[in-house]
Amino acid sequence: MKWKEQLLNLTPYQPGKSIEEVKKQYGLNEIIKLASNENPFGCSPNATAAINQPSSFFSLYPDGYATNLRNAVAEDLKVAPEQIIFGNGSDETIMMLSRALLGPGTNTVMPAPTFPQYKHNAIIEGAEVREIPLVDAQHDLQAMLAAIDEKTAIVWLCSPNNPTGTYIPDQDLRLFINQVPEDVLVVLDEAYCEYVTVNDFHNSVELVKDFPNVIALRTFSKIYGLASLRIGYGIGQPELIRAMEPVREPFNANRFAQVVAIQALNDKEFIETCRQANQEGLTQYYQFCDEEGLKYFPSQGNFILIDFNVDGNEVFQYLLERGYIVRSGKVLGFPTGVRVTVGSREQNEGLIKMMKQFIRERASLS
Ligand SMILES: *Cc1c(COP(=O)(O)O)cnc(C)c1O
Repeated sequence: MKWKEQLLNLTPYQPGKSIEEVKKQYGLNEIIKLASNENPFGCSPNATAAINQPSSFFSLYPDGYATNLRNAVAEDLKVAPEQIIFGNGSDETIMMLSRALLGPGTNTVMPAPTFPQYKHNAIIEGAEVREIPLVDAQHDLQAMLAAIDEKTAIVWLCSPNNPTGTYIPDQDLRLFINQVPEDVLVVLDEAYCEYVTVNDFHNSVELVKDFPNVIALRTFSKIYGLASLRIGYGIGQPELIRAMEPVREPFNANRFAQVVAIQALNDKEFIETCRQANQEGLTQYYQFCDEEGLKYFPSQGNFILIDFNVDGNEVFQYLLERGYIVRSGKVLGFPTGVRVTVGSREQNEGLIKMMKQFIRERASLS
């Protein structure tokens, strides 16, 4: 068959091992998964309460325009409803943008390492990928600017960046966008923006007001705790959103997500609690790293990349066999690190104890 040539060398997304699989394989009773930056506290109780619905709720197509959720998000952000586009998770919004703008003869500029779906989708669309290495875990904005030419269709920014947790200060971000040609789309993926605590973080609503070529991507998968429902959204000027609409599937935002996300959005107390708990959790990891002399990047997300100075897979495997699923840095572009999602205080304590044990055991071996 005539598959696109670029698919032949492209590996599909490798999901981590499931909790059930790990239990069985290592004979464990309890597994703590801190691998995918999900919310360890689940989601708002109001959100789960919203799911009890009559059968017609299941049998009818959802509202293709997601009117109620759209209005709720618009009100929350103080933007017009026409400034929002929903995706079946941010993953789909990334796919829609790639489909709409990339193809053979175009190129796209992105940092590396970053969220892998930008590159993955660009390859599928046949665009040239220009990866600009992070410098000290920061976007190299000058080099990214230099990589833009008349064939560039999209520049991707991720702030806070996954997997480093680092962010782009507002001033640098604005200076950068100012210099990007107006016909190049700047995608600002801010999947973790609700966790940010620094004062010089950008305000994406202001940003899209000032720059018609910017779209900010958000998700309900992370702090809102709704990863399984697959719902995310883009914020941009109405013209930009309108131009994107034809690539959106008619019913891409499912009915469950539309109903539940409104409840999640409105429970600000839950979000604030999670943000604070995350800060405390990060402090636990900073302390651990400082005590052990491990390098790490201070994080604005709900995860931390820790450099163990040994093969990341070794750390990953050691923790896995003891009931903790984390993410090896090997697959994330940091071969001697692991990325850990910040869990509850108890989960963090347990994992830190295990990581200390790893360090002791390994020291006694060498
Ligand atoms: C998790 C994540 C996403 C994907 O979110 P979904 O809405 O679940 O598809 C997008 N971007 C970044 C940077 C992420 O970490």
